[in-house]
Amino acid sequence: MRYPFITIDLDKITANTRAIAELCRSSGVTLTGVTKATCADIGVAKAMVAGGASILGDSRVQNLKKLKDADIAVPLMLLRIPMLSEVEDTVTHADFSLVSELSTAAALSRAAKHAGTRHKIIQMVDMGDLREGLSPQKILPQITELLRLPGIELVGLGTNFACYGGLVPTPAALEALLGIADQVRKAFVLELPIVSGGNSANINLLSAGLQPRGVSNLRIGEGILLGRETVNRGPIAGTRQDAFTLHTEIVEIQEKPSVPAGQTGQDAFGRSPRFVDRGIRQRAIVAIGRQDVEIDGLAPLAPGVEILGGSSDHLILDVSDCEAPLAVGDEVRFGLQYSALVPAMISPYVAKTYRSLP
Ligand SMILES: *Cc1c(COP(=O)(O)O)cnc(C)c1O
Repeated sequence: MRYPFITIDLDKITANTRAIAELCRSSGVTLTGVTKATCADIGVAKAMVAGGASILGDSRVQNLKKLKDADIAVPLMLLRIPMLSEVEDTVTHADFSLVSELSTAAALSRAAKHAGTRHKIIQMVDMGDLREGLSPQKILPQITELLRLPGIELVGLGTNFACYGGLVPTPAALEALLGIADQVRKAFVLELPIVSGGNSANINLLSAGLQPRGVSNLRIGEGILLGRETVNRGPIAGTRQDAFTLHTEIVEIQEKPSVPAGQTGQDAFGRSPRFVDRGIRQRAIVAIGRQDVEIDGLAPLAPGVEILGGSSDHLILDVSDCEAPLAVGDEVRFGLQYSALVPAMISPYVAKTYRSLP
């Protein structure tokens, strides 16, 4: 295998999904497994379905097409509110989409009619995170208009927490959303089966049994992939945090001073790094860089390996405290946080390999 590469442990992803699907089920919630951090990797998608995700969601319509082409047999949800320029692809490849603007819903309606299909939509409500969705007082007038549109079916309301504003989901915020859903049901005599109440930031509420009944769906990505809730990034009971491992190769190992020689200016990324003089240190360079990963989101797995920094293609490590002697050609492994996982999964220079589940 050519370095660098990521091993994806599909059994751990299945097991993580199972633990979270079980948690969801105990609160009457269906699970949308979110594949976007892996570019809708087909192995990951199948592992999520095997673990009990009854819907798969992704923010890119191209990724939904990829899932559909792979015959993944669950409904597909487009998570990013669609661009007007992608409504045709949306009604073709997504079974559901999350929408905010009426003009988008109208365009989806025209596209669905033209394609001879019905497209399900979930109206997003902004409960305060200040990303997508209409403010609560605009929902009833919006629904009046949505119900006039042929070719689309309003199946629910949705909201998103902790994405832009870092707003933590609370029972009160979710009760407020449920209140809006009830108003809509009464005013328009609608079933409105889906209240999609959030993402991995809701897991603490779920675990504590504090998520109000009536929230019927959650869209979970990071919680499944990395086994962490996203309010404090704490591990989720019954899940593993190490489904993804990054493998890199040492291309230089030398003793060097810990402070650059002479006057210093900006680095390759316009930053002015600071250095602490720790004397002469054993340093290793591994062949991966900021072009492939977010360096701050990497955690060396071997004790004694410390990340010093990096440039586009080089990651510089202090390995002085490493017990085993290291040499050029040796492997150095890292765990990944979400911020490192996403670019590494996208990077064509980082190969992907799988453990288990065909
Ligand atoms: C990415 C995304 C999610 C999943 O978020 P996680 O924090 O990975 O669970 C859910 N909903 C929407 C709308 C998203 O864009």
